Amino acid sequence: MTGEAPLLQMALRVEQDIFLIRQRGREVAAAVGLEHQDQIRFATALSEVARDLLRTADGADVTFVVVAGADGRSVLRVDLTPLAPLPGDRYEPQSGAVARLVDTLSVVGMEGDTVVRMSRRVPATAAALTAARLAELREKLGHSAPASALDELATQNEQLIAALDEVRRQRDELTVLNSELEETNRGVMALYTQLSEELEETNRGVVALYAELDEKSAQLRAASESKSRFLANVSHELRAPVTAIIGLGRLLTDPASDPLTAEQAEQIGLIRSSAADLLSLVNDLLDLAKAESGRIEPQWADVDLKALFGQLRGTLRALATASAVELVVEDPPAPAVLRADEVLLAQVLRNLLHNALKFTQQGEVRLRAERDADRWRFSVSDTGAGIAPELHERIFEEFYQVPGTDRRSGTGLGLPYARRVVNLLGGSMTLTSEPGRGSTFTVDLPADGV
Ligand code: ADP
Repeated sequence: MTGEAPLLQMALRVEQDIFLIRQRGREVAAAVGLEHQDQIRFATALSEVARDLLRTADGADVTFVVVAGADGRSVLRVDLTPLAPLPGDRYEPQSGAVARLVDTLSVVGMEGDTVVRMSRRVPATAAALTAARLAELREKLGHSAPASALDELATQNEQLIAALDEVRRQRDELTVLNSELEETNRGVMALYTQLSEELEETNRGVVALYAELDEKSAQLRAASESKSRFLANVSHELRAPVTAIIGLGRLLTDPASDPLTAEQAEQIGLIRSSAADLLSLVNDLLDLAKAESGRIEPQWADVDLKALFGQLRGTLRALATASAVELVVEDPPAPAVLRADEVLLAQVLRNLLHNALKFTQQGEVRLRAERDADRWRFSVSDTGAGIAPELHERIFEEFYQVPGTDRRSGTGLGLPYARRVVNLLGGSMTLTSEPGRGSTFTVDLPADGV
């Protein structure tokens, strides 16, 4: 079964042999490379088993052998073949702790005999146990003279003291380790508590912040709604009296009415033009308020761009002929159809063209439409004064007019309204401009509407 040649064989017959076996066991353990502590464990287990077998089986034949373990590492093994059969063919060490001193302690059947077998693995750090090395060890162990039982007793005592010392040292180490561990645990717990408190604190802050944010945006929404409502109501209420003023002014200056002095006629003219300005402001405000409150509902339809452009050309030519500016409305590329609200789109383009003509002294104003996949892009470009880059967003704010603009020429509400309307139609409005070289307002709309 093993085939390995034994390192050493001994006979266990009398009490003294126990000492001898113990001593030689330690020698073998040392020779094959077990560490000091393991040598003692091994020898102690061996002598305990030997004592048991001398008592229960009148002695045994003891064989030391080195075999290869499952993982390729060497294993030191001792087979103790009892002289008389073991009671029930079983072996139970007197002390249960004995089995723990070695890797295995068991009873095996070998060539008809029942053998008590114990083994211990040789550490990987030990020198390799080649066949040559084993032969050398065998030779050496065969020659070394066994010491007397008294010597072995003395050695055993020394070892016992050393083992006790070792146990005490280990216990001390364990105590230190335990207290360190306790300390660390306390630290970790404190850190954990602190962290979770901080987390809770932060969470509370975030929750409060969100609540505040929600509240603020609700307030903002309410404020914006009441502003729109206020603007709509006021402008609506103002429209009737202003229209009445204009009508009365017209009546007064009618040739069929009583003649006026030149002075009176001029003053009535001023009243009429102021009232007309006021009416256009009121109308713009009303439009913007409607757009802001979402009360404008686009009437979606297929818009014939060619027709729409023709209309714009006609209505704006009157404005252009008065100045040195040429108005060019390009023909849109076919098929010139777009799904949108015709009235709103016309309002936006008219507004942009109107501005362009208003702010251009010479050169041209051009309206162009381009189709790009599923989008239509309308651009209104002029050769006017242009707008400084830092004002490109500001001119879309309500009532904003570029400093130096003739205040009487408008209300500052046209662009914010136009942008809102374009957004309602599912598009966007952008501006590119270089001061001194003109501006281009671009309206980008989905060809198929929203
Ligand atoms: P309004 O034309 O009634 O003043 P808008 O909202 O239409 O109001 O325009 C805001 C301001 O933007 C104008 O007052 C003007 O200063 C500037 N602006 C608009 N269009 C042009 C343009 N084509 N060229 C130069 N400035 C412009």
